[in-house]
Amino acid sequence: MNIAAYPGSFDPITKGHLDIIERASKIVDELVVVIMENPVKKYMFTEQERLAMIQQCVKQYPNVKVVIGSGLTVDFAQSIGAKVLIRGIRAVSDYEYELQQASANQTLNPSIETLFMVSRPEYSFLSSSIAKQIAMYDGNVDACIPEVISDLFWNKVKQLRKDN
Ligand code: ADP
Repeated sequence: MNIAAYPGSFDPITKGHLDIIERASKIVDELVVVIMENPVKKYMFTEQERLAMIQQCVKQYPNVKVVIGSGLTVDFAQSIGAKVLIRGIRAVSDYEYELQQASANQTLNPSIETLFMVSRPEYSFLSSSIAKQIAMYDGNVDACIPEVISDLFWNKVKQLRKDN
């Protein structure tokens, strides 16, 4: 069975992530979305919240699973039987970072390949950070955030505003 892992922060999942998930799920037998903690990033949503949000979004794809990862991405991928890592590229600015990560992962585990998927033009501006920035100023995030998690997303934004 051809299993691929799609690792990322997904803080929160956006329509751009979801598009990559849908397209990748059509070319592999099983796609595992892996929520990874990047030690240099500060997150708005807990791992459990991110897990619940992604699960809501991928319900309709029978060959997509969502898990919380740990340790090195390549080690975690190997532990779930994935031989491929899917990553998305939006613009040239993503390329340098992604190339560095892919090369490091190749050195750590040459049996795991990184496959890059190019973002659709309508999602190429989209990132979790942009969605959060728009929301902080009460802007419209319909182009960014999948409808099924809209309430969860806004509840968190409002809660954070109250706490600050
Ligand atoms: P990370 O912290 O690992 O970069 P992200 O959640 O920011 O996690 O992104 C996970 C992956 O999804 C990355 O490969 C990123 O380039 C890709 N990605 C993010 N937004 C989009 C988008 N709008 N279109 C396509 N790929 C995207």
